[in-house]
Amino acid sequence: MKITKLSTYRVAPRWMFLKMETDAGISGWGEPVLEGHARSVEAAVHELGSALRGHDPRRINDIWQMLYRTGFYRGGGVLMSAIAGIDQALWDIKGKALGVPVYQLLGGLARDKVKTYSWVGGDRPADIIRDIEARLAQGFDTFKMNACEEMAIIDSSRAIDKAVAKVAEIRSAFGNEIEFGLDFHGRVSAPMAGALIRELEPYRPLFIEEPVLAEQAEYYPRLAAKTSIPLAAGERMYSRFEFKRVLQAGGIAILQPDLSHAGGITECHKIAAMAEAWDVALAPHCPLGPIALASCLHVDFISWNAFIQEQSMGIHYNQGSDVLDYVLNKEDFQLDGGHIRPFVRPGLGVELDEERIVEQAKSAPDWRNPLWRHADGSVAEW
Ligand SMILES: [Mg+2]
Repeated sequence: MKITKLSTYRVAPRWMFLKMETDAGISGWGEPVLEGHARSVEAAVHELGSALRGHDPRRINDIWQMLYRTGFYRGGGVLMSAIAGIDQALWDIKGKALGVPVYQLLGGLARDKVKTYSWVGGDRPADIIRDIEARLAQGFDTFKMNACEEMAIIDSSRAIDKAVAKVAEIRSAFGNEIEFGLDFHGRVSAPMAGALIRELEPYRPLFIEEPVLAEQAEYYPRLAAKTSIPLAAGERMYSRFEFKRVLQAGGIAILQPDLSHAGGITECHKIAAMAEAWDVALAPHCPLGPIALASCLHVDFISWNAFIQEQSMGIHYNQGSDVLDYVLNKEDFQLDGGHIRPFVRPGLGVELDEERIVEQAKSAPDWRNPLWRHADGSVAEW
């Protein structure tokens, strides 16, 4: 079997799908995208992909190493997202060629179902109580929300009070019936993170995500030493080699590699195994589309330390199209009490509506990360 063609489709809301065709009539799909940088990843997919024509797509390990190592320069969100999408398509093809779901190729199920959580509250946390009530009715009992809005490098006690009041309101409305993670989203500086975490501790969030930016990862062990709240990070780390340093330094209790940013299934199931060796849990990052979600789930199905999966159905970013709008086998993504069961179809298990993808790609929006500014006009982390 040989790879014959790669086609990319940028689509609403802010995603990109990759179709990989072969001379055997089997095609596979991947989702190589970095939100806000889809065009750069698209260029990288075609630059890297031009070397793939004529290669056997079943030699996934060899192709991965070829893409990663022979470029000399490596790593980073754009290149690793391109590799991730190509890698997903290779696994899809291999599963389809052998007639089995990808998790079977990875050694088989380590669990019967995967718990998922749901986003509430949008970019700026508001209307959270109403959102949680709606999601509870859908069967979710675990949520994630942004912990705060803009936070200056040294901010006021009012800013901390505002963030804490929101969380207190949630606990007083729902008690311990629900769990919620708080995403600091890299908005909080190292000087403010310690104070905010201390004030949030009585409300026992399930985890705090990106308490500081990944480039300030040396603060993770220091912050962890001061709190019993598990700290999570990983959506802005792109390979084993980056996760190695974070695991070695300690402090992170939950790793959140993104299956569309960190080299795909091939890389992330290795990252999961590394995390297990450090007694660190896995919760793959996924505010993306159906192929990215399916890829995450295959790694969750086979990884003992996977404890929850992010998914973006109904998330505030999904303007114009939602996760299942591109999926024909919607029934396989049905949530049962917030859980997803293993797919039974071969490959990644996603039957895509190719007509819709082609049509949507004709008018794909150029989604950009919003520009936020502090009160004094300086750029704020979003
Ligand atoms: Mg996050």
